[in-house]
Amino acid sequence: MSDFIVSARKYRPTTFDSVVGQLSITSTLKNAIRSNQLAQSFLFCGPRGVGKTSCARILAKTINCESITKNIESCDKCLSCKSFNENTSFNIHELDAASNNSVDDIRKLVDQVRFAPQVGEYNIYIIDEVHMLSSQAFNAFLKTLEEPPKHAKFILATTEKNKIIPTILSRCQIFDFRRILVKDIANHLDFVAKNEGVEVEKEALNLIAQKVDGAMRDSLSLFDTLISFSDNNLTYKSVIEHLNILDYDYYFRVTTLLLKNDIEGLLNIFNEILENGFEGIHFINGLAEHLRDLLVSQDESTIKLLEKGENLKSKYLEQSKECNLEFLIKALDLCNECDVQYKTTNNQRLLIELTLMRISSIGINEKKKTKTFVVSLNDKRRHISVEEIIKSDKKDQEIKETSVNNKVSLETESKIRPAHTFDMQKKPSLISINSSLNIEDQIFKEDSLSLEIRGSDFSESRMLQVWGDLISFIKKQGKSNLGITLGVHQPILLDEYLIELRLSNSAQQEIFLEEKLIVLRYLRDKLENDRIEIKTIITELDISKNPYTNKDKFKKMLKENPSLDKLRVKLALDPDY
Ligand SMILES: [Zn+2]
Repeated sequence: MSDFIVSARKYRPTTFDSVVGQLSITSTLKNAIRSNQLAQSFLFCGPRGVGKTSCARILAKTINCESITKNIESCDKCLSCKSFNENTSFNIHELDAASNNSVDDIRKLVDQVRFAPQVGEYNIYIIDEVHMLSSQAFNAFLKTLEEPPKHAKFILATTEKNKIIPTILSRCQIFDFRRILVKDIANHLDFVAKNEGVEVEKEALNLIAQKVDGAMRDSLSLFDTLISFSDNNLTYKSVIEHLNILDYDYYFRVTTLLLKNDIEGLLNIFNEILENGFEGIHFINGLAEHLRDLLVSQDESTIKLLEKGENLKSKYLEQSKECNLEFLIKALDLCNECDVQYKTTNNQRLLIELTLMRISSIGINEKKKTKTFVVSLNDKRRHISVEEIIKSDKKDQEIKETSVNNKVSLETESKIRPAHTFDMQKKPSLISINSSLNIEDQIFKEDSLSLEIRGSDFSESRMLQVWGDLISFIKKQGKSNLGITLGVHQPILLDEYLIELRLSNSAQQEIFLEEKLIVLRYLRDKLENDRIEIKTIITELDISKNPYTNKDKFKKMLKENPSLDKLRVKLALDPDY
């Protein structure tokens, strides 16, 4: 096993052709050598572990080789090549600017540049992490870079191209190294495994490749570590365990449950994930990644963005057929919202549970059905929709008010199953859902009288009449912003009970969404139809064209006159405008 600890070094590429995933760079370098038009200075940019230093060494070795092959590779036999292989070549000088970034360090290097090489044609100076040089060191180096002797070549490498000053950029030929594709890394690991006689599962290698974010070097050292744990047989399962990765299988199952609106199943699976020691936020981010992968699987033109092994790919294709685009986009949006709120919320678990419920109810809204449950409270019955339950974490007015006396129970005529309970607050306000929320079909089939889902027909003109009443009702309540918002455009009745409300901008939409429940409740009561839904459309997408809120107005003014911000600071105005 000990011979594995060196994979990264042992399998470091030594020829241009063995560099993985940087074909355009290696072929450009080869062409330049072939046509004898090699630049004097190079800047290799790109993330860590993608082959910058390896390419620099290969270049150094090749241009010093005494008999370069037809394919523009080093011969590996001549004196120079041998000394390179044995790490004894005097033609290569490496400086790690991360740890040697003083003027003195660079002066030492510059002093050497004057001397021509004893063996071979060129001296190659590699400065790694060149952006770390102090500004004095930079200046000391600049002169040399401007007029280097013919026998000297400079290869500057950096992970942060944006920190390189223009005077350096303009003197170098720039090569942008890209992250290596998951499939290329996995293939290379497979090659290493075969060479070393190790049994590996393809999916295990894919997982490693995904984990290292395009860095080959990292993948090799991770591979070494994992092999040392797994007794020369690397399985998908052992990688999952050691890397503490949530199995993709979970995400497939969660997505199926989301599509089926199986809230009970979702809560159970999320509980299982937490019990296995995973953080909720990792789960939500992983779910977002999964949904993103399903999204790119939907279209021929984006499917290439799916970086998975063949087995897994077909699973993604299959599941993506079950999801429509709107579901995926909305679900991603909700995951993102959850991610943003995660750090600031007091009850992270509840936040994720609610997010799962919201996602799983996306489909319901599309079907334009509003599931309604009867709430029994002090012998009074009232309707409560899934949406209201879900919204209750945010602004929950009614539920909180009515639930002071311990609990609100949601019941249906169907059999009672064990309850899921959510702690809404520290106060003893409990909502118990006495049956899975996925009973929609049952409700409609059983036509149970006690559910009393109202479904009266109404015309558009009747709706507009009630809408007018609604606006004055809202205004009477002192919510003038909402009143104005509702009056900007006339709503349209799209079909039986779906109302479209056009709004001028996202600020209006925000105002509306905050109070949507009040609006819905009013309309449902007056029109005696519990299935009424409202969808909003923003008519003016570009807010900057037509600033609405004070913040937007200020932003627009700021664009025209940036010094306004100084004025704002001087006057100690609210930083949020
Ligand atoms: Zn050679």
